Amino acid sequence: ERIGEMSQSTGEYHKKIENYTAVLSGTEDIPTLNKVLQDILSDTRSLHLDMVRSHDELVSARKQVEDAEHKIKRLEAEIGEISELVYQDHLTGTLNRRGLEDAFEREFARAERHDIPVSVALLDVDHFKKLNDTYGHDAGDKALIHLANVVKEILRPTDTVARYGGEEFVIILPNTSVDDGVNIMTRLQRELTKRFFLHEHERILITFSAGVTQRVDNEPADNMIARADGALYRAKQSGRNRVFAALPTDTPPDQKPG
Ligand code: GH3
Ligand code: MG
Ligand code: MG
Repeated sequence: ERIGEMSQSTGEYHKKIENYTAVLSGTEDIPTLNKVLQDILSDTRSLHLDMVRSHDELVSARKQVEDAEHKIKRLEAEIGEISELVYQDHLTGTLNRRGLEDAFEREFARAERHDIPVSVALLDVDHFKKLNDTYGHDAGDKALIHLANVVKEILRPTDTVARYGGEEFVIILPNTSVDDGVNIMTRLQRELTKRFFLHEHERILITFSAGVTQRVDNEPADNMIARADGALYRAKQSGRNRVFAALPTDTPPDQKPG
């Protein structure tokens, strides 16, 4: 708006100067010349004042824009931090259920786009209640943090770990067949026997059981988790500290595709 006003007043100024030029070239009368000169000086002064005012206003407007930009940057950073919190499990730093939903969507889309397999593992700590009862709830919490750290360290950066419930984790394994998924989870078990969880200088062995399944026909995540849960159940039944691949019969009847 101010720039519009500025160009209007400079336009008017130019018109006036043209008129004055016409008057000046058509007269030699001293009083008339004096009058024109005074008018020119007065018009020039008011244009100058107008320009100074506009300049100040533009400078302050630019300052406002800069302040607003800083504020936007700060708010954007805050939003980033908040959404990280909202999508993360506060105890283990893995994704929470909401983060998992997003990850499923992203990984399924990627797998469909590139026509590659995707597998899911459901992991449940063995006898975790006993660990809590023996060493206390705080030690239990630290054991979960330890487990999550080992999982994150061992898996590929493209794999996703999410806390599904108390001592249950879901792991999305992109570009992985069910057999490879079982191997990865077995390797994880081996690593966990090497990296003890230390509690008050006592080495505590954490073991887990897991069920692994591969995605079939663009099925929804719930289907896969239900099937992995069936395999996990069999792993527990077979004595725990085992990884089982899901069988078609692990899908509950009401979730069978078609
Ligand atoms: P199983 O081998 O059959 O899985 O036995 P379990 O004891 O691990 O299974 P159960 O479901 O009986 O017990 C799970 C325990 O996990 C009970 C609950 O108090 C504990 N738990 C769940 N969430 C947390 C948590 O955030 N921190 C701690 N310390 N314990 C938790
Ligand atoms: Mg459980
Ligand atoms: Mg358990």
